[in-house]
Amino acid sequence: SLPETKKTGNRVTVLVRVRPISKKEKEAGSRCCVRIVNPRDVYLTDLVNPNDYLRLNRIRGRHFTFDACFPDSATQQEVYSTSTSELVEGVLQGRNGTVFCYGATGAGKTYTMIGTLESPGVMVLAIKDLFDKIKTRSCDGNHVVHLSYLEVYNETIKDLISPGRPLVLREDKQGNVAAGLTQYRVYSVDEVMTLLQQGNHNRTTEPTRANETSSRSHAVLQVVVEYQVRDAAMNIINNVGKLSLVDLAGSERALATNRRTLRSLEGANINRSLLALSSCINALVEGKKHIPYRNSKLTQLLKDSLGGKCRTVMIANISSSNLSSGETQNTLHWADRAKMI
Ligand code: ADP
Ligand code: MG
Repeated sequence: SLPETKKTGNRVTVLVRVRPISKKEKEAGSRCCVRIVNPRDVYLTDLVNPNDYLRLNRIRGRHFTFDACFPDSATQQEVYSTSTSELVEGVLQGRNGTVFCYGATGAGKTYTMIGTLESPGVMVLAIKDLFDKIKTRSCDGNHVVHLSYLEVYNETIKDLISPGRPLVLREDKQGNVAAGLTQYRVYSVDEVMTLLQQGNHNRTTEPTRANETSSRSHAVLQVVVEYQVRDAAMNIINNVGKLSLVDLAGSERALATNRRTLRSLEGANINRSLLALSSCINALVEGKKHIPYRNSKLTQLLKDSLGGKCRTVMIANISSSNLSSGETQNTLHWADRAKMI
């Protein structure tokens, strides 16, 4: 028999998005320490003279190559087109797709995923695109779109559309489902932005010493498209595709905060979810038989949205400010590992 080979067809696309330096960072005297030299390569430097290219080139371990790198001038539409539009196409063919935003708090994950009314992010653009694509299909009356939005916080699952008691994971025919989660039927893109902003407002954010608005929660938006087609024998076939868009909790280390007990407990859980996610992705691309989904709530929830015929995209969000260069380096190293896949 053939020697064991790396399973093909299972690939994680890894993209990097740099956010602009904020007014506050500028006022604090911050400099740009991230340079995108072409659409795939990013350099990280915190040299005294950021224009010192000669030295920059000699520094090892600070240059990374990804599937795509977006400079801070990239538009929401550009990020959407490169990261998610193909996955939306797949969903309309009955395949699942997942996009993650990974990075430290303040690096631009939520901006990328939700954005603002003026510059809507990936979640909104995906649903807009989905409705546009459905409209151009001949059988558009046939499509049913449902949306759910939940949070995993401290290994507890909360419905962000209609918050209430924590949800429990209960296995059903489709795999793992958070029992009682609102499946909100949507008819147009207009209602989605409000819904997402409301949902985001319900996310658990607690002040920590490291960052006042640190988000320790993972937010998962799932869009399910169902439609029926007839096969050659005129039998009705039900097609279901699911798109999962995930705004991960801040990846900064628990060590960065100085509070004990609950804080560090939460930190441990966040690391557990992120770690579990990494090991699942690693196991998938290595073609392992056993995928350790059970190690965290997040990975159990995404069991049917990772691997198999599912496409996965990772967006690593980083700040261009040298004040965050430590976190930026951690994020790029993490993304670099995910890329190996
Ligand atoms: P995170 O969700 O990773 O904690 P946010 O998305 O909340 O970070 O971003 C932090 C701040 O930076 C917000 O005020 C956000 O509006 C701004 N921001 C992030 N990315 C961009 C961008 N690409 N362009 C302009 N502003 C951005
Ligand atoms: Mg956020």
